[in-house]
Amino acid sequence: MPVSCPVCGELGEVLCDECADSLLEPMKFEYSDFDVYAGAFYEGDIRQVILDLKYEGLKAAGKILGLKLANLFERPDIDLLIPVPLHTGSERDYNQAYEIASGLGACWNIKVRDDLCSWRHIVSRHATLSKAEREELTPEDFKIKADKIKNLKAALVDDVCTTGTTLRCLARACSQAGAEVNSAYVIAKA
Ligand SMILES: [Zn+2]
Repeated sequence: MPVSCPVCGELGEVLCDECADSLLEPMKFEYSDFDVYAGAFYEGDIRQVILDLKYEGLKAAGKILGLKLANLFERPDIDLLIPVPLHTGSERDYNQAYEIASGLGACWNIKVRDDLCSWRHIVSRHATLSKAEREELTPEDFKIKADKIKNLKAALVDDVCTTGTTLRCLARACSQAGAEVNSAYVIAKA
């Protein structure tokens, strides 16, 4: 099958420029100690593109969406972008959050580091955390390389923010390790 834009069907495009532009607009969600910048609500075409990115091998869409997301916001004053890690034991071939971060990092000229944070526990490979489980997450669910992250400013990156609990727990874990992390960039807010 030749590659085609999943939104308009244009041949030869993983996700065409016009569609990528039309899907995104800048949004900001403020939690008590944390800001989440998003490009869309998780619905319709963008939801389908994100599902294709995660589960159908549409890897290249991640960087395209990341570049487009970066264009919506001012470059943050940070040292690093940290994608939310895949669950330890995941059999996925790539981390969609890393692909998105690579687009943001390329546009903003900020380093992407996916080797500083990991999940401490192994989650069943087919499990997606239910809302209740996510509410029980704590910063202790993440392992952080404190020696590498200490005194740096970072922002987190993920594909979708639902309750924000994962992002805030990871941010707190990074903060406890001596970094300054008070924002995240996601493609969509569910
Ligand atoms: Zn298109």
